[in-house]
Amino acid sequence: MSAAADRDELDGALARLSGSTFRRRFRLGARERAVIEAKGLTRIREHADRLIADRLAPALPRNDGKQTPMRGHPVFVAQHATATCCRGCLAKWHGIRAGRALTVDERAFVVALIGRWLDAQLAQPAVEDARPVRARIRRKAANPSDAEEMPDLFAPPRKS
Ligand SMILES: [Zn+2]
Repeated sequence: MSAAADRDELDGALARLSGSTFRRRFRLGARERAVIEAKGLTRIREHADRLIADRLAPALPRNDGKQTPMRGHPVFVAQHATATCCRGCLAKWHGIRAGRALTVDERAFVVALIGRWLDAQLAQPAVEDARPVRARIRRKAANPSDAEEMPDLFAPPRKS
């Protein structure tokens, strides 16, 4: 088994991420659970592999920092939850430097981390669609003075 996908390393990463109220807020909503149910986890893992290869792994990913939607596909939600959404987050949280292509092991680590987060989510009862995140987005739109409260979703995150 590749050291990059070591179980303890994955659990360690998930434990660190769970210390972030921002990351913890991401949950699979009804829509993403329906996608998993329709496709099956095996295909979702294949999607993760392809999405990471196309959108995160290149040395200079297109639209880096904004390439991962907040919801819709379970892998997108998992990417935000696991700080594998962009190269800034990947560097900050997982020590994987930006500006160069991911190695095979790094890609395997990211995909395994996403898979493990999805497993953990599916083991929990469904919650309503990621409402806290959406409510905050709406509030920001309605009242720009609230913007300070709202982490910039597409900026490299603070470990808040
Ligand atoms: Zn990011």
